[in-house]
Amino acid sequence: MQVISLTPRGYCHGVVYAIKTVKKIARNPHVKKPIHVLGMIVHNKKIVADLDELGVKTLHEKGVSRLALLDRINEGTVIFTAHGVSDQVREKAEAKGLDIIDTTCRDVIKSQGTIKTYLDQGYDVLFIGKKDHPESESARALGRRVHIIEKKDDIEPLSINNDHIALTSQTTMSMFDIFHLSEALKKVYPSLILIEEVCNATKTRQLAVKTQDKDTDHCYVVGDPNSNNSNKLVEVSIQRGVPATLIESVEDIHVPDLMTFEKVSVTSGASTPTKVTSEVITFLKNFDGENPSTHSNTSTVKDTNLFK
Ligand code: SF4
Repeated sequence: MQVISLTPRGYCHGVVYAIKTVKKIARNPHVKKPIHVLGMIVHNKKIVADLDELGVKTLHEKGVSRLALLDRINEGTVIFTAHGVSDQVREKAEAKGLDIIDTTCRDVIKSQGTIKTYLDQGYDVLFIGKKDHPESESARALGRRVHIIEKKDDIEPLSINNDHIALTSQTTMSMFDIFHLSEALKKVYPSLILIEEVCNATKTRQLAVKTQDKDTDHCYVVGDPNSNNSNKLVEVSIQRGVPATLIESVEDIHVPDLMTFEKVSVTSGASTPTKVTSEVITFLKNFDGENPSTHSNTSTVKDTNLFK
């Protein structure tokens, strides 16, 4: 079977920075204990499990904001993740006397700065993002003039009486979703200005999927179900006309499907460990429909320290 490894794929600079920082913190005896990460350091369960091994606890609960999660930390050090936090979270952590380590990605800092600038100039800001994503939480906390738009249904209930409207987005959204939503929003608010904030890592990974060969039978996106950018890669592939599946590891590959494929592609989200993706690629390259010894997709990566 032909296997196309799409590039770029995998770790982005923001994830690399966050992981390196946490590694250093975990091994530094002078850092105040306990150490908690507010939310998942990156959206990948394997990395979170590895951190746990290092004694760094992750506080994450679906539907619970970072501001509320902070109530569960009363001492030691708190780490802010690559997705960033609102000023309210920062102030609350300081008021609690916690030591703060901030791994917010520079692209997220830039995006938050853009929203603040437009709010200061009197604009209402439309923010295209997942409602329960930490970036949306931070954006929403900037004020009542920030409106989160996840899908077309969110447009109709809006009632904005402002001639100055700016449209921006979460850094990991699909460029193609943004295009469609912005076209729909422009019909209601023709004067809105669009500020491009999808990060370069997300753009280039999506572009590689968007321009993959159309005759590819299937695209495997290696990533965590919580990872927005991984989910978006699946959508982009389907828009390209190439069926796609999100898999957490090689074990999620439905082996009988491979009998019907001649050409597959592989990509991975920005928070997917390289070892996990490499194992998928190796398995697919070795797969031979007529040789059952190549059909076992048991992962050997799961017990490996992914930070090494
Ligand atoms: S996906 Fe983009 S915004 Fe998010 S951490 Fe990576 S580089 Fe930063």
